[in-house]
Amino acid sequence: MEQRKRFGGNSGLGYYTSWEKSKNNGCIYCGNPATTREHVPSKAFLQEPYPDNLPTIPACFACNNGYSEDENYVSCFLDILKSQIYSDYSEQEQTNSRIANDNKLKNILNEQIKTQDGKVFYQLDEKRFDRILLKLARGHAGFEYDYVDFDNTRTKIWYDFLFNINEDNLISFEAIPETDIAPEVGSRGITTPFILQNIVTGDAIGFSAWNEAQENRYRYQVSHNENGDITVKIVIFEFLYCVIEFGT
Ligand SMILES: [Zn+2]
Repeated sequence: MEQRKRFGGNSGLGYYTSWEKSKNNGCIYCGNPATTREHVPSKAFLQEPYPDNLPTIPACFACNNGYSEDENYVSCFLDILKSQIYSDYSEQEQTNSRIANDNKLKNILNEQIKTQDGKVFYQLDEKRFDRILLKLARGHAGFEYDYVDFDNTRTKIWYDFLFNINEDNLISFEAIPETDIAPEVGSRGITTPFILQNIVTGDAIGFSAWNEAQENRYRYQVSHNENGDITVKIVIFEFLYCVIEFGT
């Protein structure tokens, strides 16, 4: 399968959101000149064999490498916690091999996830989770909607585990948002939502569907929210549910 391409090519903010080897690119995370391309989502959250049409975005060398340790941590934390909570779920092989090769990570996770008398106790590192979820959301918003925002202070991050979310909240989380704000021409948001047209009024209504990067591992949705800003929803391992709102 061919690498998924941005619909808008290199137009608009494509400098930051579309990797073009022959052109200059900017890092979507920090704005510095980009020398590498990065997959979104990162392979830390996927399982081999990896999908071969993952979106890619430009990143500088420092950002491309500077998140790996935290991504590994978040991925392993989620996988181990899920396996402790659900008896019919086993850790992924790659989690075991990552931990086997990393004593520091192993010790941290042993400290943060404990099972005693059949009860699971956990304490996650919120800073590391926030950092990685913001990073993932930036990649999706950039690739899907040509959206770039280097300002952390205007971003809201919410996440919780499936077992903590009540049914009503789950239904609204899963909903496919209806938006009447068409993504700007040239942005590749246009390829992802379904566009329905009212044949009487001619109004176009967009629905932002879920993008499945890998079944049961990772899916995400990018949409315009009420303020015209961008909301990214991410579900990791069908276990951690996340909403990242930019520009609020
Ligand atoms: Zn960077």
